[in-house]
Amino acid sequence: MLDIQFIRQHRDMIQSVADGKGIRLSVDELLSWDDRKRKLLQEAETLRHTRNAHSRDIGRFIGEGKREDAEQLRKDVQKTNHRLSQVETELAEAESQVTLLAMRVPNPVSPDTPAGRSDQDNVEVKRVGEPTAFDFTAKDHVALGELHGLIDIPRGVKTAGTRNYYLKGAGALLHRAVQQLALDLLIANGFTLLEVPLLVRTEAMAHTGFFPTGEDQTYRIADENKWLVGTSEVPLVSYHADEIIDLREPRKYAAVSQCFRNEVGSSGRDVHGLYRVHQFAKVEQVILCEASMELSERLLHEITGHAEELLQQLELPYRVMSVCIGDMSQKTYKQFDIETWMPSRQAYGETHSSSALLDFQARRSNIRYRDAGGKLAYCYTLNNTAVASPRILIPLLENHQQEDGSIRIPQALQPYMNGLEQLVLQ
Ligand code: AMP
Repeated sequence: MLDIQFIRQHRDMIQSVADGKGIRLSVDELLSWDDRKRKLLQEAETLRHTRNAHSRDIGRFIGEGKREDAEQLRKDVQKTNHRLSQVETELAEAESQVTLLAMRVPNPVSPDTPAGRSDQDNVEVKRVGEPTAFDFTAKDHVALGELHGLIDIPRGVKTAGTRNYYLKGAGALLHRAVQQLALDLLIANGFTLLEVPLLVRTEAMAHTGFFPTGEDQTYRIADENKWLVGTSEVPLVSYHADEIIDLREPRKYAAVSQCFRNEVGSSGRDVHGLYRVHQFAKVEQVILCEASMELSERLLHEITGHAEELLQQLELPYRVMSVCIGDMSQKTYKQFDIETWMPSRQAYGETHSSSALLDFQARRSNIRYRDAGGKLAYCYTLNNTAVASPRILIPLLENHQQEDGSIRIPQALQPYMNGLEQLVLQ
């Protein structure tokens, strides 16, 4: 949660960021509950002070034989206690309203964040490679997957409902190969690999900024205070919750995990193929660093660079987008998305999302470090996809298909595919 003083001092800016990000929040309402909370806290303190003083005086009056005075004060104490219990009830309500509303307060956005309402307003900042041109009729990934026996969507739907799939044979191997390639790239760049819990407590979701705004996107385990994560960012950041950590060097963590998303609000969107599914695998990069804007900016470019390096190894055309405020989530301060060329869509499709969050997650998760002067401070966090599959299989299969129906496997992937150079039709 942002500091309430900060919110008070920047109420107009916070309100306009909330509006820009499409978050239902009235900063005025939050601040008026906070005013009320402060008043009630003060009143409760005064009442307790009066009651304690009166209680002492009752004892003194009784000692001095002033029974009437003692009786009068006893009545006053009764009244004070009655009012105190009213105030405590009102205070509990005010505190819970402040917490509820403060949990919805968005992170501000960087000054260079584009204005806009949706991904249509994101701004291209870099393009690498050109959209693939075919001099034959190209197939989409679903047709290629069926032809080569790589993807089976009907059986996925049979077993698990819409937006589910099976990958098989070389399809399943490719899915694993891209993940291992991404992991090796991150490990070579100083990341520590973690195996992480994927069923997490509500607090972990809230403290990493996914709740309350993303609660309806998340699968809950019935009758338990547990949720299936939509990304390993949650357990990776929560790893250091309530800790004071040494950040003389940034901490760089990677995880590969299944991600579960119910995709509420996407009905009818991207229903064909593997683009938008309920369960996918993602290799994630998370960094915790000192609270320095300059360092955060450098690391944001670094983690974006890792994703770019991977796409270059996969020999895929892509572009980097500066994400506009309307396409950002509550927790994000600055974001780049990478979109990879997907021939069947005749468009670039999002494959990676790289974000700087400043101390937004660290405040909620209570992750601190000692700065150079020995003072405790909240750290900054950043994250980016290294690779998400099966979505990446769309450009991989479609861009590398050949006229004879075979699919070329980029050189960097071949060691992870037992040296296989192409998938040929049987
Ligand atoms: P996010 O964690 O939402 O920033 O998403 C990171 C990446 O995960 C996206 O760029 C996609 O490549 C992938 N992804 C997100 N949601 C889905 C989904 N429902 N189905 C398949 N891939 C997804």
